[in-house]
Amino acid sequence: MVGYEKHSCGSCTLCCKLMAVYHDEGLTRLQKPANTWCEHCDIGKGCRIYENRPKPCVVFECLWLQHSEMPDELKPDRSHVVMFELPDEVKRADALAFRDDKSGIEVPVADVVIMEDPSYFTLGESFKKNSRLRNVVETLRSKDLRVVVVNKFQGKLYENL
Ligand code: SF4
Ligand code: SF4
Repeated sequence: MVGYEKHSCGSCTLCCKLMAVYHDEGLTRLQKPANTWCEHCDIGKGCRIYENRPKPCVVFECLWLQHSEMPDELKPDRSHVVMFELPDEVKRADALAFRDDKSGIEVPVADVVIMEDPSYFTLGESFKKNSRLRNVVETLRSKDLRVVVVNKFQGKLYENL
């Protein structure tokens, strides 16, 4: 994976475990449930098919990677959470929740999704344990961005936790 300015993935590969990737088009097809290591992931090193990875992996936007002002403590392999922006087509959807039929995940529509690693947290527990994460979420909310946390197949708006 590619780094920007200060941040780079280094030995982190957590998104390749937590995110669901279901992609049927093109040369690279992948049916990867959430919370399961991808068959193409060299854990702790990176994607073995990086140049040909499926489109959902190409468009995935990890906030920690992109925002060099985020503290090192929030690096996903240290914080055990991965933050990303939802694609615009999902954010624009006229719905209270979106559902990925293949993965079974149904969560409220939000601007930013925070995936907790269920090996470390129950739903919402990361906020109780990580004040840096709370600060980031409060900053996002102060900009009127909706934040949702997901853990396994559960999802909740941060305001409701
Ligand atoms: S979670 Fe973010 S920092 Fe970690 S491997 Fe994925 S893109 Fe890189
Ligand atoms: S194809 Fe590569 S980038 Fe996509 S989930 Fe698998 S290891 Fe990660």
